[in-house]
Amino acid sequence: MAKIEMKTPLVEMDGDEMTRILWKMIKEELLLPFIDLKTEYYDLGLEYRNETNDQVTIDSAEATKKYGVAVKCATITPNAARMKEYDLKEMWKSPNGTIRAALDGTVFRAPIQVKGIDPCVKNWEKPITLARHAYGDVYKNTEIKVPGAGKAELVFTRADGQEIRTTIHEFDGPGIIQGIHNTDKSIASFAHACFKYALDTKQDLWFATKDTISKIYDHNFKDIFQEIYDTQYKEQFEAAGLEYFYTLIDDAVARVMKAKGGFIWACKNYDGDVMSDMVSSACGSLAMMTSVLVSPSGVYEYEAAHGTVQRHYYKHLKGEETSTNSVATIFAWTGALRKRGELDGLPELTAFADKLEKATLHTIESGRMTKDLALITSMKDVTVLNSQDFIKAIRSELEK
Ligand code: NAP
Ligand code: MG
Repeated sequence: MAKIEMKTPLVEMDGDEMTRILWKMIKEELLLPFIDLKTEYYDLGLEYRNETNDQVTIDSAEATKKYGVAVKCATITPNAARMKEYDLKEMWKSPNGTIRAALDGTVFRAPIQVKGIDPCVKNWEKPITLARHAYGDVYKNTEIKVPGAGKAELVFTRADGQEIRTTIHEFDGPGIIQGIHNTDKSIASFAHACFKYALDTKQDLWFATKDTISKIYDHNFKDIFQEIYDTQYKEQFEAAGLEYFYTLIDDAVARVMKAKGGFIWACKNYDGDVMSDMVSSACGSLAMMTSVLVSPSGVYEYEAAHGTVQRHYYKHLKGEETSTNSVATIFAWTGALRKRGELDGLPELTAFADKLEKATLHTIESGRMTKDLALITSMKDVTVLNSQDFIKAIRSELEK
């Protein structure tokens, strides 16, 4: 059988621990036998990041800008314990943070739905994609613990020295104050990423803030989205039969619970943090989530939503059997291959991505799955497979 040809390489970002083990198995069992795989390889494993003073992460982000599509394995974000464990020169930054900053992206996450692993919300027939703005608000705040009586003011000093000043509160006793910000540029990038992703995936877009209460701050988000929609996307949305719809965050939450799914829910930073955990846990498992970083210039980076599954890796090192779910990592590859196929006009590559996803879901639906899913499935008499055998079961399904 001839292997499927590729034109442009994918940027391949290898990672750490258990996901690094899965990465190799997926390539060997599910990709290399079928595709003449072209990648530009970057080793983001912590050892090599340390060796290159993290230059490899920066290089991989630059390569992503050049080629347009990347696939990333989960990586360790170092903390004090990792400094010792890996004898690090420095506590290197989170690779995801570095890549996000370089690509100015928005993160889209959607549950992978499969029969037998049912969402707690019964009417969610299709996945809900969360789009989270990943800059500013309470994540870049400045806070003061007010010691006692006094006046709190909000002051902005213009570049020419002029001041805008307003009173926050006249305190008659102790309390707290907080300053937060965002920029029009970042909000506009977020809006473009959401509109483009909605058109790309042919889904409606919902956006919600609390503009009735936050009449300047949240209202600014609403206005920027509306202005960009009206002037740059409205015609395309209408031609595609799609809807852009703005509402209040509390109304959105109520509607989401009653909805059938199949849309994108754009959230401000904090709302997105909270709501993506709600949607993912309602759907079963972080290992059953897709995650893609999309930049406003149309660059895509696909990854799994979970970490390196450290606990399983230590078992693996001791020679014990693991049953680690590789679905999110497989879907990171299929997402990237499909996008590469679309951009390069390679229908065979796109079709292969579809087939591999189907084979993966079919394996689970036939009752063969990893332990995390066996614990939550509504199916009876399931077979729990180890990490390797689950991937092998997908291979035999794919060959069928
Ligand atoms: P984690 O890797 O997401 O795992 C947490 C727990 O969730 C696991 O111990 C396991 O539960 C379960 N789990 C997650 N993924 C699973 C999978 N594919 N199959 C089966 N079970 C799965 O988080 P962590 O252990 O807290 O973090 C480990 C490292 O990952 C950290 O160094 C962190 O910096 C890094 N991290 C990276 C990313 C990223 O690169 N995108 C994201 C988050 C964290 P049981 O142990 O109960 O089986
Ligand atoms: Mg969170």
